[in-house]
Amino acid sequence: MESRPTFAIIDTGAIKSNYVWLKKNIAKDAEILAVVKADAYGHGAVETAKALERAPAGGGCGCNFFGVAICEEGIELRKAGIKASIVILGGVYPSQIKDAVKYDLTPVVFDIETARRINNLSKKTGRHTKVHIKIDTGMGRLGLLPYQVAPFFHELKGLANLDIEGILSHFSEADEEDKRFSHKQAGIFLQTIKIVRKIGFNPRLLHIANSAAIVGHMNSHFNLVRPGIMLYGAYPAAHMIGKIKLKPAMRLVSQVVQLKKAPKGFPVSYGRKYITKKDSVIAAIPIGYGDGYPRHLSNNGQVLIRGQRARVAGMVCMDITMVDVTHIKDVSQGDEVVLIGRQGNDEITADELAEKAGTISYEILCGITSRVPRVYV
Ligand SMILES: *Cc1c(COP(=O)(O)O)cnc(C)c1O
Repeated sequence: MESRPTFAIIDTGAIKSNYVWLKKNIAKDAEILAVVKADAYGHGAVETAKALERAPAGGGCGCNFFGVAICEEGIELRKAGIKASIVILGGVYPSQIKDAVKYDLTPVVFDIETARRINNLSKKTGRHTKVHIKIDTGMGRLGLLPYQVAPFFHELKGLANLDIEGILSHFSEADEEDKRFSHKQAGIFLQTIKIVRKIGFNPRLLHIANSAAIVGHMNSHFNLVRPGIMLYGAYPAAHMIGKIKLKPAMRLVSQVVQLKKAPKGFPVSYGRKYITKKDSVIAAIPIGYGDGYPRHLSNNGQVLIRGQRARVAGMVCMDITMVDVTHIKDVSQGDEVVLIGRQGNDEITADELAEKAGTISYEILCGITSRVPRVYV
C-alpha cells in the first residue's frame, strides 16, 4: 500500500555537507561528535549516523563520535551496525548500565554511585568502560558543581575498570551575542580540567561546544565539538543566519487533497476562526499537529504551492490543515505543498516556521512525528 502523500524528505547529502563545513571551521585539532539524539532531530538517527560514519571512500565523512541523549538511542545505533564511539549525553539509569556496557556505549557520568555501578559491572565482565565526566559550569542542569570535582575524582581513583576518556560541560547561552557568561563558563571548565590533572587523571577528550559555541566561541573547541542543529542545516540563533551558509536537510511536503470554492463569509475549520472576506478557494492539506505541524500556526503559518505562498486558513487540525489559495493561478488537486523547504524560488525554513509558532527550529524538527514517513535522497 502506498502511504499518504505527506513526507519528510531527508537529504543526507546536505547533512554531510554541513558536517564538512563544520570540519573546516573548527579548531585544527578538534574532532566532531555528531549529536543525533531525538532521532537526529527528526531526520532519522540510523540513516544520519550511517551517512556520517562511513569513511569518505564509502561516501561518508568518517565521523568517529556520536552523541545521543538516552541509552535506548545508543542501542538503536549499535544494532544498526554503527561502530563509532557513542556517548550517552544524558547519562544512564541503574537499570540500563548492563546494556550500556554490553553495547559498548560511553555514558556521561555525574554522580559517584553511577560510577561505582558501571565499574562493578565492568569488573564482573572483565571490561574497561569508557565514561565522560560532566561538570556543571553554569548551565544548572546535569553535572558536578565545581566544588564537587576534587572529591569526585579522588573517589574515581579506586575504580580501576573505568576509563575516564573525557570531561565535558555545556553552555547555557552560547547563542547570545553577549559572550560574558559563556566566557565565565569556559573559564570554570579550564580550572576544573587543571584540578582533574593535578589529581592524576588526564582525560583524552575535552568538550563543551554546541553548535552556537562552534560559531561564536572559537576558543571553546578544545579537541572535540558537539554540533547538533547545524548538522541539519538550521541555526542556533537568528543572528547567525546569513553569516554562515548551511544546507537544510529536511523538506516537509504534502499535496492538495481537496479544493473548495468558498463564497464570501464562508467559515473554515474548528471554531470558525477564519471567515472568507470574498469569494475564495480553500485547499485542504493532509497534515496537522498529529504530524508535528504546530497548532500555533493556525491563521498564521504559510506554505508553498506552485512556488507561491499561501496562508493557513483557520485552525490547524490534528490531521488536516486548510490554506487559502485564492490568489494562486491554476491550483489543482494533487499539487505539491511544501511546508518546510524550497519550492520554485522561495523557501520556508524550519527557523521561519519556529519564529511564527513561537518556538525554536529544534522543536519543529524533532517534533515531526513518526507518522510522517522519512524518505531519503
Ligand atoms: C543537544 C546537545 C548538544 C547539541 O546542541 P546544538 O545546539 O543542537 O548544537 C550538545 N551537547 C549536549 C550535551 C546536548 O544535549
